[in-house]
Amino acid sequence: MRQSQLFTKTRKEAPSDEVSKNAQLLIRAGYVHKEMAGVYDLLPLGLRVIEKIKGIVREEMNRVGGQELLMSSLQRKELWEQTDRWSDETVDVWFKSELAVGGEVGFGWSHEEPIMDMMQQYVASYKDLPASVYQFQTKLRNELRAKSGIMRGREFIMKDMYSLHATEEDLNEYYEKVKQAYLVIFKRLGLGADTYVTFASGGAFTKFSHEFQTVCDAGEDVLYVHRGKNIAVNEEVLDEAVKELGLEKDQLEKVKSAEIGNIFNFGTDKAAQMGITFASKEGSKDPVFLASYGIGITRALGVIVEKFADEKGIVWPESVAPFTVHLVGLNSDDDAVRDYTDGLYTTLTEEGVEVLYDDRDARTGEKFADSDLIGIPYRVVVSKKTQEEGRFEVVTRKTGEVRFLTEEELLNDFMPTGTEEDND
Ligand code: ATP
Ligand code: MG
Repeated sequence: MRQSQLFTKTRKEAPSDEVSKNAQLLIRAGYVHKEMAGVYDLLPLGLRVIEKIKGIVREEMNRVGGQELLMSSLQRKELWEQTDRWSDETVDVWFKSELAVGGEVGFGWSHEEPIMDMMQQYVASYKDLPASVYQFQTKLRNELRAKSGIMRGREFIMKDMYSLHATEEDLNEYYEKVKQAYLVIFKRLGLGADTYVTFASGGAFTKFSHEFQTVCDAGEDVLYVHRGKNIAVNEEVLDEAVKELGLEKDQLEKVKSAEIGNIFNFGTDKAAQMGITFASKEGSKDPVFLASYGIGITRALGVIVEKFADEKGIVWPESVAPFTVHLVGLNSDDDAVRDYTDGLYTTLTEEGVEVLYDDRDARTGEKFADSDLIGIPYRVVVSKKTQEEGRFEVVTRKTGEVRFLTEEELLNDFMPTGTEEDND
């Protein structure tokens, strides 16, 4: 994409009411636009990153047999009354409204109840199980606090998956498979080294739910980490965990963290509350086993920004970067250099490399500062000098490493290989 065509511009300052680093940088670099506290629009660059994250999550969910669908945002009150989760006393994040023809509706903050109700239409017998469905959906939650930028939105994108099973063993086996898939996802997002499946309570790893917490200064949670043993404990269960795991408190490092995903095993509770059954092999009507699996897609994006940004701006892992190469053309008033840079842009693009081409008529310093702020993994600089020498300056954003490559080396380096990125 030609940067001269990109309608967004970088900004020197973020809005004065924006306190979080992730939103400040994302706004300044033109990834998101702030509508109001906790509500952000995804601009073209931001949407590209979100689609990359979704792509990785989608691949791994498909790999464990998940089928993608998309549920509605408007939800029926009656469904949530069945499980006593309509009342504002039991769920404190509801946005609700009224239909013109009368009757209350809710805006989806979760989809456990609607999914179960919908699946009941299709799951009649044990032959229809197991079934696993997922979506990328915009959740609406009337969060009390919205000071963490896109890490805690009142409107945010979540991937939620739900699996239905005939037996507890089948659920447990699948639950474990998804847990492993989650670890693969976080590794591919570049967060593998710092993401822990946390100890909750009741056994080394509780049977009923797991959180995936990423060490991050901007996170709202507190973790106690044993890096050597690769164990992390939630603050709430610290004493119990220390005892159960045979750890010494002073071996644990206290860190701030962000919950980027969590998984729940509901057993048959939800089905029992909602009266959802299937016909077993023996002909009895049994309640369905349910588990749900969430990942905060926009939160993950915020966490990536928080963790990797430096004083110059954002630093994207290659796997989620909006573009792989930031081609920066200098001396653009020189026709020969300009034609050459245009040609290189065409060649790279035709080879399938994702390139943002800074073809703007702007000062060198401004182009470099913008490039650092936007955070694309590799910057390729073409100037009169580099063109004459037949070598291009290639700067790795993350390390600052500078290389001088020929056009051929450049193409070999950035040719998409089709293999999956591991960032750790
Ligand atoms: P939290 O404790 O942070 O409020 P939660 O327990 O309410 O999270 P879930 O309802 O299980 O979270 O949602 C699944 C995932 O969605 C979370 O693990 C988190 O990554 C993400 N998430 C939850 N609330 C928000 C929010 N307000 N903004 C962005 N992402 C969120
Ligand atoms: Mg919450």
